[in-house]
Amino acid sequence: MLSFSLRSGSSGNSTYVGTSSARLLIDCGLNGRQLARALSVYDLDPAELDAILLTHEHVDHCSGVGVAMRRYNLPLYLTEKTYLAARSSLGKIDESLVHLITPETPFAVRDTEILPFSTPHDAVDSVGFRVLDSSGDIGVCTDLGYFSRDVRTALCGCRVVFLESNYDVDMLKTGPYPRFLKQRIAGRRGHLSNEEAGEAAVWLVRYGTEALSLSHLSENNNNPGRAMVTVREALLKNGIRAGQDCLLQTSPRYKCSPIFESASLQIETEGSSNISTKRAESNRLDLRGCHDVKR
Ligand SMILES: [Zn+2]
Ligand SMILES: [Zn+2]
Repeated sequence: MLSFSLRSGSSGNSTYVGTSSARLLIDCGLNGRQLARALSVYDLDPAELDAILLTHEHVDHCSGVGVAMRRYNLPLYLTEKTYLAARSSLGKIDESLVHLITPETPFAVRDTEILPFSTPHDAVDSVGFRVLDSSGDIGVCTDLGYFSRDVRTALCGCRVVFLESNYDVDMLKTGPYPRFLKQRIAGRRGHLSNEEAGEAAVWLVRYGTEALSLSHLSENNNNPGRAMVTVREALLKNGIRAGQDCLLQTSPRYKCSPIFESASLQIETEGSSNISTKRAESNRLDLRGCHDVKR
């Protein structure tokens, strides 16, 4: 299992997830050149991808999907509603490459099983993805108004989670956005705040998550320092030390994040010989236990 964020935020989102049998790109909000360049950072080639999975039709997630499909003949997995909503952004594509999926119904790319799950967001049928792998599952979950019961159940026990931490509550409140936009962002179908990400992080780590990448940070209403401090403090209040009990990082806006790699989970920083390693035994829990937790 290997995963990293290529880009994260309103100017473009894309996450790479590699399992023992498949190379997947979740969302592609970057152009063809940016995609090739970002993957090459970790010696990967877009032509070797097995599929693109699309979470929802917003342009920061789908602007580069059509180009990548045409250039590399890549299959696309998305829900029917999202397909209809994203069609005009995809341009002319080979429809035989389109695979329609249903939220909460697992599907497979090669031998890799993937669970798409509904997320509360102002898109027609937005989903997050849980990618299953023998060395630990990976969850990608951005663009959600709140950490719903269904979302937490879907992510429960994931070893690595790319989790939205979109805005700082005070920065949004005092910032320049018009009132309707502030309400949209903070609403139940908008985005997750740092505080909410902190609560979600506590829950996820309690149920076995070993590494978190805070993602989709707002450029105007957040910064990596604030997101890290807020989530780190929430963890600490609950006896969880970031860096020791779990790994915590942010997904950069314009460049690749460090890689999360199993079997011993580690962060390897691009171009650096410094490797911070957290040796962790997999402690995945029985998913049935997740239903008993109070919201
Ligand atoms: Zn987005
Ligand atoms: Zn969105």
